[in-house]
Amino acid sequence: MSRVLVQTELETFPSLAWSDVASQMSPQPRTAIEQAMEAQNGGVLSREKCLLLANAEGDDLLGLLVAANALRSELAGNIVTYVVNRNINFTNICFVGCKFCAFSRGPRESDTYFLSPGQVAHKATEAWELGATEVCIQGGLPHGLDPFYYRDILRAVKRAVPEMHIHAFSPMEIVYGVELTGMSLTDYLAILRDNGLGTLPGTAAEILDDDVRFVLSRNKLTTEQWKQVVRTAHRCGIRSTSTLMYGHIETPEHWVNQLLLLREIQHETGGFTEFVPLGFVHQNTLLFHQGLARSGPTLAEHLKIHALARIILAGAINNIQVSWVKLNRRLSQLCLHAGANDYGGTLMEENISREAGATAGQYTSPEDFQALILEAGRIPAERNTTYSKINLKLPSQELIAEQTFEPEFA
Ligand code: SF4
Repeated sequence: MSRVLVQTELETFPSLAWSDVASQMSPQPRTAIEQAMEAQNGGVLSREKCLLLANAEGDDLLGLLVAANALRSELAGNIVTYVVNRNINFTNICFVGCKFCAFSRGPRESDTYFLSPGQVAHKATEAWELGATEVCIQGGLPHGLDPFYYRDILRAVKRAVPEMHIHAFSPMEIVYGVELTGMSLTDYLAILRDNGLGTLPGTAAEILDDDVRFVLSRNKLTTEQWKQVVRTAHRCGIRSTSTLMYGHIETPEHWVNQLLLLREIQHETGGFTEFVPLGFVHQNTLLFHQGLARSGPTLAEHLKIHALARIILAGAINNIQVSWVKLNRRLSQLCLHAGANDYGGTLMEENISREAGATAGQYTSPEDFQALILEAGRIPAERNTTYSKINLKLPSQELIAEQTFEPEFA
């Protein structure tokens, strides 16, 4: 049985080279990794080999992390991208009842809110004036929503800020919109596209396995529906991100199944812009308090999922994003060394709230992003949503040379 890596080994792996770890690894995972690295493509790996990597521990896990970092360097270079955006959650009222969600409220709770399309547009305008190029719009699902509310949000935002990229509506919201309007999925997506929808968040995926979904959220869209929405959106010219929520009741086999499914969809449509592993935040969730899930991912799991994604998705989805909102500063930097090349969005929402007097919340400014990326020894670059425009935020060469990665875990 493999030894379990201690925290310092996990924190210091970025200082290792492949030649340091390869000879310590078991033959099968080592061969699998070498195959993928040589081809620069995870498509060469059988499901069995992927499972072997997903279950890697000890020196095999160190090898996986180091190899993912090397493959990232080959496929994405030293640049770490981010997008300047604002998150707009238009309501917290939701009937779905996902057990992992601490955000939603019942309609009669005291702290509910609901934004009109005009109010959403106002927030988008504020964001544009502060330099955002994207608004990410999602929310709860209230009963009795105006059937064309999602379309009306798009119209209002585009009228106010025509150049803003609108990244909006999870596949769950798309299914709800179809139900509310009685339209076909293709027609519904087409009206959203024609009214300004740029891309879809590939959220509401969690784990794409109906047995797991039944425990997490029995009212949510099924695996089949998620795949259908995403495939149809891609065919309508609406690209999307792809996600996976880890650290709850799922197993490494679920990770592999999902990564292989995403590879397959990407092969068919080419519509995914990136893959975003989302760590389960367990505090304040029914899923944890009812004893149904573990208490979020371990450090090893955080690193492993980013590395595994880099290897398995290589050649299909080459942007692996760190969801910094769910990780602390050092852990998010460490994930950049485990295969990730994108830092996601600055999520301006909380900045504006803070400016309005709120003291809580999470916000990282573009300058903070740049500093975090430089501190990790990489080059920051602002991108647009689809990665078609990348604007390097280059410090002096001297500054780049001075950056060193100093593992230190809170
Ligand atoms: S659908 Fe979204 S807002 Fe509603 S409970 Fe689930 S995760 Fe929360």
